[in-house]
Amino acid sequence: MKQLRFLLFLLPLFLLPGCAAPADPAEETLCRQELLAMDTVMTLTVYGPSGQEAVHQGGELLRELESLLSVTDEGSEIYRVNHSGGDAVSLSEETRLLLSEALALCGDTGGALDVTIYPVVRAWGFTTGDYRVPEEAELSGLLEKVGYAQVTLDGSRLTLPEGVELDLGAVTKGWAGDRLMELFRGSGVTSAIVELGGNVQALGAKPDGSPWRVAVQAPEGGYAGVLEIVDKAVITSGGYQRYFEQDGETYIHIIDPADGRPARSGLASVTVVADRGVRGDGLSTALFVMGREKAEAFWRERQDFDFILLGEDGTVAVTEGLEDCFSLYGGWEGRPLEIIRK
Ligand code: AMP
Ligand code: MG
Repeated sequence: MKQLRFLLFLLPLFLLPGCAAPADPAEETLCRQELLAMDTVMTLTVYGPSGQEAVHQGGELLRELESLLSVTDEGSEIYRVNHSGGDAVSLSEETRLLLSEALALCGDTGGALDVTIYPVVRAWGFTTGDYRVPEEAELSGLLEKVGYAQVTLDGSRLTLPEGVELDLGAVTKGWAGDRLMELFRGSGVTSAIVELGGNVQALGAKPDGSPWRVAVQAPEGGYAGVLEIVDKAVITSGGYQRYFEQDGETYIHIIDPADGRPARSGLASVTVVADRGVRGDGLSTALFVMGREKAEAFWRERQDFDFILLGEDGTVAVTEGLEDCFSLYGGWEGRPLEIIRK
């Protein structure tokens, strides 16, 4: 939080989009905007003549999504839903679309992703930064209010039983990436890349036709590897992204809905490479909860995405679709890189 306040202080310095005309007229103009939204520093980079307008509209879109989907903002739609006291509420089209995709992912992942985990996430203090370790009895009481099957979405009418609350935090940034790509494409942009915290999403290739190079963070800081991608979302869930320590124990922000405790699957991070951000985001969280064995089985059954697993023991494994586009980097070079095959 301290870091966030510092960034907020700096924010006015970053708000204006900057466009740089290329030195070589054969190259494309680049427009970049850095902003703070969804508790995260975000960077939008768009190439081409419509870049300035596109990054401006992209910034507005992110703010709109934040004001709809934030769990803590008292004016948000999710806040209203979470305080509906068991009554049916009517959702905006944006929230309806995201929630129905998210619920489908909860089902597909067997509840490893669960958008009703919010009461438990709050009890651990992850929404406010007032961290604490809840008692077993408190957790088991809260878990009665957790379970995506308790959500009834009928068209745009949503009903949550009293006490059940939504947290779309595990999919919101991925969804935002998809919406940005849609917006850019609609503005005639063919080359753009966005960084939304740990998420990266690219439209097309770099202006010169070469792939984007996206770094995969090492849990201890710095980079573990580099991915070369075109038109993909690269989404990471890592225990190191948000955690607290108490009495020598580390408690991370990704919760296993089975017991309401921070997931301890032996993984330091999961990076999913997918065509759509929302799928990559939901899956990165879910595969982290599942752990390596179940994540591999899940991938073998679907195969419409790839992933990189960094183990807590320093191991690295990637699915075979990434064999030719992922390489270890810096201090991680030379480690064995395991390829997970079908
Ligand atoms: P991500 O960074 O995408 O992995 O999402 C993690 C965030 O989603 C957390 O900060 C919580 O707000 C929420 N969350 C934690 N565990 C889960 C879970 N098992 N299913 C859904 N959301 C979760
Ligand atoms: Mg996620």
